[in-house]
Amino acid sequence: MSHERTVANAALQAAQLEQAMAEGLQQARRRVGAAAMQVERGVGEAMDSARAQMGQAADRVEGVFDDTVSRTRGLWTRAWVALLRWFDTSAALPADTAVADRIDWLRVAPFIGLHLACIAVFWVGFSWFALGAAVFLYLIRMFAITGFYHRYFSHRAFKTSRPLQFLFGMIGASSVQRGPLWWAAHHRHHHRHSDQPGDLHSPVQHGFWRSHMGWFMTPRAFGIDFKVIPDLARYPELRFLDRFDILVPVLLAALLLWIGNLLEQYAPGLGTNGPQLLVWGFFVSTVVLFHATVTINSLAHVWGKRRYQTRDDSRNNFWLALITLGEGWHNNHHHYPASVRQGFYWWEVDLTWYALKLMSWCGLVWQLKPVPARIRDARTRRPGG
Ligand SMILES: [Zn+2]
Ligand SMILES: [Zn+2]
Repeated sequence: MSHERTVANAALQAAQLEQAMAEGLQQARRRVGAAAMQVERGVGEAMDSARAQMGQAADRVEGVFDDTVSRTRGLWTRAWVALLRWFDTSAALPADTAVADRIDWLRVAPFIGLHLACIAVFWVGFSWFALGAAVFLYLIRMFAITGFYHRYFSHRAFKTSRPLQFLFGMIGASSVQRGPLWWAAHHRHHHRHSDQPGDLHSPVQHGFWRSHMGWFMTPRAFGIDFKVIPDLARYPELRFLDRFDILVPVLLAALLLWIGNLLEQYAPGLGTNGPQLLVWGFFVSTVVLFHATVTINSLAHVWGKRRYQTRDDSRNNFWLALITLGEGWHNNHHHYPASVRQGFYWWEVDLTWYALKLMSWCGLVWQLKPVPARIRDARTRRPGG
């Protein structure tokens, strides 16, 4: 009996054990399943996030690439337009305020080259003839700038014929100070905004170098405001001079080279030759002429006496009047810009005025506008003056 019970007990225990094992196994299977699902979810999430990150990185790379391409394309376009503008000043870009006041070195490279070319005097040597040519070309071109670019084109201080207007426009253009339309448009702007923030070449606003030469090396000054020069823009021959303003200087340079070569051959006693006449007559003369002219922007608003209380800082200066053939009486000029003479009294040397007077006697120019005595003798601020 006891043996039977023992067997039954053992069987019961075995059944219980089997059940416990089955339950344990089931539980273990559930846990493994849950863990596997968790791992699977984790892997899925990690892959999703990696995929998203890769997408973002690709987008970023693409963005940088697009940016670089468009910036490079912008640079190339700007460089190309700068080069085009050497030959055709009407080449233009849409206004970009970011670079409007930054010097465009490529555009102004010919102007810098003009200065560097002067170093060639050490190779071509000296002759009195070449120096004489430089002085002559300085005087005639300074007269074209002061008498015509300034007093005629910018201020209409006298009248002349259309051929003479073109001739002096051309002599002025050989000074490498751009065409008569560009010059006059910017000069009229100067009179409207003298020494105010809008004045592109005010030494009071922008300092010496900017007023002397920095201002016209920036895109803001490259174009022409045709609205302020309708009286000049109606002449196609003047528009041509302005658009292709490199043409006349190149022709003058070529002419000097040619004449110098002829003189070397047929008049060796003069001691000159093509390269020498080119360097002195064109490069040296033009650079000196340029810097003398722009002292009226940079110095004549700072250095000298103020006879009239104009609303700007313009000055009268004998030395500047001497080197610019009369333009140094700049305070007089701002007081009454319409006058053909800028030296208001006999002792105020104004060679441009003498030359224009001489031309008027020959009938080449006429209706020279004088300065009325009451305006000349007024010492107080004149509204709008
Ligand atoms: Zn001025
Ligand atoms: Zn003026």
